[in-house]
Amino acid sequence: MDLNERVAGIPPSLTLAVDAKAKAMAAAGENICGFGAGEPDFDTPEHIKEAATKALREGKTKYAPNDGIMELRVAIADKLASENKLAYKPEQVLVSNGAKHSLFNIFMALCRDGDEVVIPAPYWLSYPEMVRVAGGKPVFVKGSDGSGLKITPAALKAAITPRSKVLVLNSPSNPTGTVYARAELAALAEVAVQHGLYIVSDEIYERMVYDGVEATSVGALSPEIFKRTITVNGFSKPYAMTGWRLGYFAGPLELVKACSALQSHSTSAPNTFAQYGGIAALRGPQDCVDRMVKAFDERRQYLHRRLTALRGLTCVRPTGAFYAFPNIAGTGLASLDFAARLLEQEKVAVVPGLPFGADDHVRFSYACSLANIEEGMNRLERFVKRLA
Ligand code: PMP
Ligand code: GLU
Repeated sequence: MDLNERVAGIPPSLTLAVDAKAKAMAAAGENICGFGAGEPDFDTPEHIKEAATKALREGKTKYAPNDGIMELRVAIADKLASENKLAYKPEQVLVSNGAKHSLFNIFMALCRDGDEVVIPAPYWLSYPEMVRVAGGKPVFVKGSDGSGLKITPAALKAAITPRSKVLVLNSPSNPTGTVYARAELAALAEVAVQHGLYIVSDEIYERMVYDGVEATSVGALSPEIFKRTITVNGFSKPYAMTGWRLGYFAGPLELVKACSALQSHSTSAPNTFAQYGGIAALRGPQDCVDRMVKAFDERRQYLHRRLTALRGLTCVRPTGAFYAFPNIAGTGLASLDFAARLLEQEKVAVVPGLPFGADDHVRFSYACSLANIEEGMNRLERFVKRLA
């Protein structure tokens, strides 16, 4: 068929594909250890489900306002003010079908043809594809294992050209699990502001931080930074609501209006009763989040201990999100080969680093049970020993 080349050139999301393959193999009776999906294994907390069910029963089954229910936008603005020290008005919040949709809207609205979007690598694999579809050009700045897989202000500066328009920041990071310290983020944001870049700060993993590390909201660093920052967040990760498809961004009103118009012609508002669940998530008790984070932390420590005990693998200590991103260069295999052989020989599903911009790494999600991690590590140990 004669397809639009921007769309025809998109590879399908490998995180979703690995997860689908692992699930299909498990359904066919294979004993799979899945580390693929970046998806909490917990169910959505009961009070959130209850609020959505109540909304359904009360007939909240019609279209919601395109930008989201005002009560939810107010709850989001309140959350951003109290937890993140970000002073957005509810009108500056646009609710969408997941943070992925928010990001897509943002890149569509910001990128003119050929505009450069600077993306620290390793990166979440959907950023470059979204930028390309929007007509922009992703420019990568690489963080090394030696620098904790983070980028430096000098490297960022070196990547900036007259076409640079946007800097993407994602701390805590998918896939690396690393978190930028406040001063590190401030130094990067300073460079961005000096060069007139907008900052898209994807803060979806902000609640998942460990070892006493804190997640910093980029927009809270200074009034100048705030003006140029677009804050993205969602419900999928903190409240185990991946299937609800609910996310949002807050930013300059002009951008919100542009994205709102785009959304009004593409998807309209997200699911109405899901939005009532979102209100309950933000306004309700937060101890459910703390409990999930505590469980992730236990898994993280165990996984990291096992990974770093293996010959041929090294792994930066993850302090955020729910991913570990070991370097596998010492095994002599590139990431696609490593992941394919591990799945075939030991039925362990991991995501190759290549589409994250790091072919010498693979990603393990530890949003799965400790028993799964234990069994998966036993299998991985066997696999790596055979390679030696
Ligand atoms: N940003 C990052 C870094 C992610 O890992 C994900 C994956 N879920 C998203 C955004 C999008 O999440 P959702 O669309 O489920 O809100
Ligand atoms: N973001 C998660 C991941 O990286 C879920 C899948 C996706 O949307 O990419 O695994």
